[in-house]
Amino acid sequence: MLLSTVDEHEVEPFLRSVAQSQNSALLLDYDGTLAPFSIDRKRALPYAGVTTLLQELVDTGRTRVVIISGRNAYEVGPLLGVKPCPEIWGSHGLQRLLPDGTCEMPEIDQDAIEALADAGRWLTYQGLQQMAEPKPGSIAVHWRGLDEPSAIKLRGRILLGWSPLADRASLTLLEFDGGVELRVSDRDKSDAVRTILDEIGPDAPVAYLGDDATDELAFQTLENRGLTVLVRPQRRNTAAQVWLKPPAALLEFLFRWLEACHTGELEASANLR
Ligand SMILES: [Mg+2]
Repeated sequence: MLLSTVDEHEVEPFLRSVAQSQNSALLLDYDGTLAPFSIDRKRALPYAGVTTLLQELVDTGRTRVVIISGRNAYEVGPLLGVKPCPEIWGSHGLQRLLPDGTCEMPEIDQDAIEALADAGRWLTYQGLQQMAEPKPGSIAVHWRGLDEPSAIKLRGRILLGWSPLADRASLTLLEFDGGVELRVSDRDKSDAVRTILDEIGPDAPVAYLGDDATDELAFQTLENRGLTVLVRPQRRNTAAQVWLKPPAALLEFLFRWLEACHTGELEASANLR
């Protein structure tokens, strides 16, 4: 079976290594990767079929599924619907919510807390509070659904309003598809990837699937070590090795990963006989 938008030379050997390995890790961004964009962020459910495939993958016990999202980590589990909820990194790598419910996060200094509160107040004065997403160590504004000229104007307005706050408290302005956020600079998605790589060891196959500019750092971190996959309706310049057009090619990729786990199980039990 051939993935319509994929370089088989990259995918086939990688999935063979998944079949041959007792442990592998599947690192996934959420919005735009597992779930289509929704103007109502609280209803951004995964593409049909994604939850079932991820559930079956988790149930094999051979693949560690980890979500690495820009959202508050606590929002992702209820949308994803996999039980028990896998490990979730939120706020672009700042928060780590483990399956046992413990949440790790770096301490945020008082200057940053005050600047983020000021950024929220500034949005309220501007009448933009309904577009705001306050998160741990960060505040984002989403303009998805606006026409392009309005989005460009709004982006300029926010960058102008927030830049002095970023300078004052050494915060970072992070642009993503459909918005911008002001955040503490301590960690990003690449730190989440590095942590998983350290924990899982040098031999386990690892893949990262993402769609946005914020995923590029994760792709770069995994370069020469794992499979990097851009999931997006259109191809774009990327550090990823492979492009998957969702939902069909994404579902096929997850299905083939599951098949690789089942093949590995069968081979392992045949070797025991
Ligand atoms: Mg995304």
